[in-house]
Amino acid sequence: MPHALAQARAAALRGEVPVGAVLCDPAGRVVAAAGNRTRALSDPTAHAEILAIRAACAAAGSERLPGHALWVTLEPCPMCAAAIAAARIATLYYGADDPRMGGVAHGARVFDHPQCHHRPVVYDGIGGAESQALLRGFFAARR
Ligand SMILES: [Zn+2]
Repeated sequence: MPHALAQARAAALRGEVPVGAVLCDPAGRVVAAAGNRTRALSDPTAHAEILAIRAACAAAGSERLPGHALWVTLEPCPMCAAAIAAARIATLYYGADDPRMGGVAHGARVFDHPQCHHRPVVYDGIGGAESQALLRGFFAARR
């Protein structure tokens, strides 16, 4: 999670919403890391999780990442949760809750939906306070 938080901090410095993600293979090696780049790429889908999943899948030459763990500083949105399920990621660790945009414990609750055919093991609140502080600081500075 410290690595994901570093990605979130780097995203904030680029003027992006500070969210970071790190993907680890079944041996625990980091295979991809990314921060939000929606503004830099003019791409509403360029969330940290999506970028990390794309990079890891490209490196693996596979659209699935069985046995992999995704660490992300904020509760994934419904789009990212769907991508996590599609990639068959085994374990999801996330930091802060996101009652407004989250799609795991809030809103669409993608993994609990009957249409979802892969549910990762989910651990929330990992480094949540630090992630929340980063987000609060970022949005406070913009008001
Ligand atoms: Zn997302």
